[in-house]
Amino acid sequence: MTQRHDIVIVGGGAGGIATAASLLKRAPKLDIAIVEPRDTHYYQPGWTMVGGGIFEPDVTARPMASVMPKGAQWIKAAVSTFQPENNEVTLDTGRTIGYRALVVAPGNCLDWDAIPGLRQTLGKNGVTSNYGYDSAPYTWELVQRLREGVALFTQPPMPIKCAGAPQKAMYLSCDAWEERGVLKNIQVKFHNAGAALFGVKDYVPALMDYVRRYGIDLQFESTLIGVDGPAKRATFREKAGEVTRDFDMIHVTPPQRALGFVADSPIADANGYVEVDQVTLQHVRHANIFALGDGGSTPNAKTAAAARKQAPIVAVNLLAMLEGQTPVAGYDGYGSCPLTVEKGRIVLAEFGYGGKLLPSFPKWLIDGTKPQKLSWLLKSEALPWVYWNGMLKGHEWLVKPQPVDAVRNAAQ
Ligand code: FAD
Repeated sequence: MTQRHDIVIVGGGAGGIATAASLLKRAPKLDIAIVEPRDTHYYQPGWTMVGGGIFEPDVTARPMASVMPKGAQWIKAAVSTFQPENNEVTLDTGRTIGYRALVVAPGNCLDWDAIPGLRQTLGKNGVTSNYGYDSAPYTWELVQRLREGVALFTQPPMPIKCAGAPQKAMYLSCDAWEERGVLKNIQVKFHNAGAALFGVKDYVPALMDYVRRYGIDLQFESTLIGVDGPAKRATFREKAGEVTRDFDMIHVTPPQRALGFVADSPIADANGYVEVDQVTLQHVRHANIFALGDGGSTPNAKTAAAARKQAPIVAVNLLAMLEGQTPVAGYDGYGSCPLTVEKGRIVLAEFGYGGKLLPSFPKWLIDGTKPQKLSWLLKSEALPWVYWNGMLKGHEWLVKPQPVDAVRNAAQ
């Protein structure tokens, strides 16, 4: 017999757990099941700090059981298929689960295998990535070891989660080399598949100051297409054709895409992400399905900060839907990317749809377009605490849902 719940949530990551907590805060008796296959919940924004030698890896990981909200049932399995017409999902165990409302938050796919040679060599031969819990500590190991040579940093085509993370890794590495007095002996190159340093132009001048200070060579429209770890060579596709570069260290940001089980399902858009309205986060064809986080189709910066803002909106709109109403709360596309330009200072990018600046603090306290010490304290001290004790527990500090009409009108 099919097991049924009021609400099924796919994914116990940042978005899934925060939504469950926000729902239970409003309606503690709801019957919620969270489908999540992993034993460990990761605070991924902390991996930049691990790669920079500031956090120990274990502060970014907690047992999944410890973050499951009281009152939610954890189903330890993965969803394989969606049957929205029957209000059901099927798990990899073969079991089928029914729902009145579905929240889809499985994140996106880090496509390590899209770069030939990468998976075999990641974590050795000078090849590293802050995008993996296991490889992020190796970044710091390499940075400490390197005294001279060539250090490459790569950024794949958009959309990727935390679009600033590829350059955060680079700036923190350069800062450490500068402090040790070896930066002048290291050639640093940033191979960016895109054509701009950062998607929102207001933050570019401050970042360019650091590019000049560290002597970074910017290679735009240069996409990593192969890594030969043992030979320490990387191949890029550029306008003029393929080029191969030797390296002593390479920090790779993997190409990213929608997860296959979502892309192949009836709830996906043409790009494979869950097709929701960008303001209400409600599915465009199935009113009882909502999505948030990296797996949704909304064109915001894919960040935990975005999921923090989206979760209460999904909660409010889903509860309205269960009572037969249309969505009441709206999402303005808020996302945040704290760019760690040096140890102790951050350029705090906060913006919404269309690159509209959406600062959380008055300019006299934090000017997000400038490198600031207070922003560093936010990233290194406050935000991890807010994540574990606020966001995942249903406290909606600074992210109170706004009325849907107000958000739509502000966007016009
Ligand atoms: P996730 O948190 O990835 O969770 C998805 C969950 O779904 C996982 O637990 C997964 O196991 C589960 N799942 C997957 N498939 C299935 C399935 N078939 N069935 C059931 N469950 C499934 N954000 C910021 O705000 N600030 C930052 O500074 C920042 N820096 C970052 C730096 C790095 C290096 C990285 C990697 C990320 C960074 N982010 C940052 C991005 C942030 O971590 C993500 O945007 C956020 O975690 C997205 O939340 P999510 O719930 O969509 O996905």
